[in-house]
Amino acid sequence: MKKVLACLLCILFLFQMTSCYRYDFYDEYYSYLQNLMTTETVEETAIPYFVETGAILEKGKPLSPYYIYDGNYDSDGSPYRPSYRQGICRNLKGKPVVVLLFADDEESVWTKEEIVSFTNEGVMPALGFLKREAERWNVELDFQVESYSSALTGYNLSYAGIMPTNANEAIKVKIIEHMAGDLGFNSAWNLYSYMQSQYPTQDIIFLTVFNKEGRSFASQLISVGYNRHVEYCVLYNEDSRYLAYTVAHEILHLFGAEDLYAENATEEIEEITKKEFPNDIMWTYLDHWENQVEAFTAYAVGWTSEIPDVCYLEEWRFD
Ligand SMILES: [Zn+2]
Repeated sequence: MKKVLACLLCILFLFQMTSCYRYDFYDEYYSYLQNLMTTETVEETAIPYFVETGAILEKGKPLSPYYIYDGNYDSDGSPYRPSYRQGICRNLKGKPVVVLLFADDEESVWTKEEIVSFTNEGVMPALGFLKREAERWNVELDFQVESYSSALTGYNLSYAGIMPTNANEAIKVKIIEHMAGDLGFNSAWNLYSYMQSQYPTQDIIFLTVFNKEGRSFASQLISVGYNRHVEYCVLYNEDSRYLAYTVAHEILHLFGAEDLYAENATEEIEEITKKEFPNDIMWTYLDHWENQVEAFTAYAVGWTSEIPDVCYLEEWRFD
C-alpha cells in the first residue's frame, strides 16, 4: 500500500513539474484569452489601421538596416551558421513577442475553442521547452504572446483562396503579406515596423496558423543582398502528439537553427548528428520533451558563441 501511495505521489509531483514550467509565464495571456471567450463584444485590439494614413512610427527607434547577406557568412563573419541573424529574428533571448495569426482560408476556419486549444497544446508547451532549454544555456528567455483571429478579435484574417499544404507551394504565397493586409498594413515590413515600435527592444516572432493538416515550415532564408526580410512560420493544426515539438522546431529555424535530418540537410550531417546530438529537436522528436537544444543548434541560434567541433568537419556543410 505504501508503495502504491509513494508511486501516486511521484506521478502527481511529475505532473506538477511539467505543468508548471508550461504555465508560469502564461497566466496573464491565459486570462486574456478567457476574457475574449466570455465577452460578447470584442474591442478592437491594439493594432490600429494604417492603410489610409500611412504608417508613421511614433514610438521606438527607427529601424536600422540589416547586414546584407553575401551568401556565405553570418553577420559575425562565421561560415558555420549561415542562417543566423539574417532577417528580423536575431535574438532568441529577452522577451520576444510571439504574434499568433490564426488564418482562415476557403476550406478551413478556426472556432474560438480550436484557437484556445491550439494555443494551449501547440504553442505554450513549445515556448515552455524553449524557455527551459535557454535556461540550460544560461540565456534568459521569456515570451509575450499576442493573438489575432477572426473568431476572437475584430479582424478578418482570411486568405482568399486555398492555402497550399505543401511547404514548397505554400512558401510562394508569402502569407505574411496577406496577414499584414488583413491587419491594415500595406506590407509585412510595415506590420513588423509597427510591432517593433510597440516592443522596441524585443524580437517579433510571426506564426501564421491554419486549421488543417499540412507541412509546417519557417521562411528563414534571406535573398542575397536583401535587407528587409520578415521571417515568419506557417504552422498547420496537425492531429499529432508532436504538434508543439514542430512549433518549437520552426521557431528555432527563424533564429538560425538548421535542419539536421538527411532530407533537408545531408546524409553525412544526419550521421554525425545521431552520434553527437542525439536529442536535438532539429533532428528528431522524443516523447515527454526529452529533446534538447544541443551544442550546434545552441550555437546556430546564438545561445553560445563557442563553435562546436563538428563545424570543422569536412562533411558538416549546409547548402
Ligand atoms: Zn525544419
